[in-house]
Amino acid sequence: MKPEANPTQLARQLLDWFERHARDLPWRRTTDPYAIWISEIMLQQTQVKTVIPYWERWMRALPDIGALARSDPQSVLKLWEGLGYYSRARNAHAAARMIVDLFKGEFPSTVDDLCRLPGVGRYTAGAVCSIAFNQPAAILDGNVARVLSRVYGIGGDLKSKIINERLWKHAAELVDCARQLPDRRLGGVSDCALQISENFTSKRSSFSAQTTADSGGNCSRLNQALMELGALICAPKTPACVECPLSQLCFARQSNRMADFPKSVARPVVTRRKFIAFLVLRNNKYLVQKRPKNVVNASLWEFPNVEMVSGAPVNPNLAARFLIIEKKPLLRIMHSITRYRIQLEVYRAELEQGVKPTGTWVSLTKLKELPFASAHRKVIEMLLLRSQRDLQQFSF
Ligand code: SF4
Repeated sequence: MKPEANPTQLARQLLDWFERHARDLPWRRTTDPYAIWISEIMLQQTQVKTVIPYWERWMRALPDIGALARSDPQSVLKLWEGLGYYSRARNAHAAARMIVDLFKGEFPSTVDDLCRLPGVGRYTAGAVCSIAFNQPAAILDGNVARVLSRVYGIGGDLKSKIINERLWKHAAELVDCARQLPDRRLGGVSDCALQISENFTSKRSSFSAQTTADSGGNCSRLNQALMELGALICAPKTPACVECPLSQLCFARQSNRMADFPKSVARPVVTRRKFIAFLVLRNNKYLVQKRPKNVVNASLWEFPNVEMVSGAPVNPNLAARFLIIEKKPLLRIMHSITRYRIQLEVYRAELEQGVKPTGTWVSLTKLKELPFASAHRKVIEMLLLRSQRDLQQFSF
């Protein structure tokens, strides 16, 4: 039987390493649970460098839970525009309203209460409770699962119930060990409760008040260290073990079997799809439509479009409403959503005679203000670029 790494040693190494190597990220300068929650939602499936400007813009526009609860759904989607996985924004909005109604505007501070909110699962609840409130709540996302599977030599499918629970157990053990270690920030006093009460009474949104190393106590830093190590050092394909603080304790490293952990799972087969969009202009306004609820990109705007399979429209009745007036596409956009590789061709078109438009006529200026699905946003960017060129052409 392989010897298991000592969790206290692991926790100590992680805390030391994090103190020296943590990135200075904007949401690490606060203990405001709302700000941390928003960062955690944005970071799901999205890279840090992409999230930073979105998070900063969001916090300027909606600085607290009340502001988010009061905002209208379209402005929330507009702030999220381009980040993808829009259900995250819709859930955040619904959760904010629930916090105002159910928790009287006070941000929930237990894993159980947080898990009642739409879009909040065990990971996000643990992240908020540990990072904002310095509670010994465990976290397990893809990065952390990879680190733990290598450190403890856990093979098999990480998503299977048994293995997943094993990983959660290790994650909980580590954060609990961190709780018991002396907290340097508090002059060697190990007391999460002290830190929690400090966070509760601290003024929210004091973004510049703390340095990275000072934000939160051991529980907060331990979980952030695990995430950080997974993101920066213990990379999926080429882990930088020589720089890793856990290399002496890591089963995969010590047995030179980094590639064996975690077990690779078959990737979903990539599916190619093609759509054509109709760009219809009338009286300086473009025809656009809002996507219905309960579909991908629900409530976002788009130009009328139809999916094509083997050169024929999937919905011929819809396609028959439009007459393409230029055979050459104005724009061809490639983009990916989950396993789909999508091509969108945009054509200048008119409505067929007698066809009543379904949708809304919107000027170019107003189009900029509506939340659009990413590919369709590119069409607007093209239109804006063209209109600027036209203006330059006719200016003296
Ligand atoms: S030693 Fe290597 S494999 Fe082990 S946790 Fe560190 S980076 Fe990952």
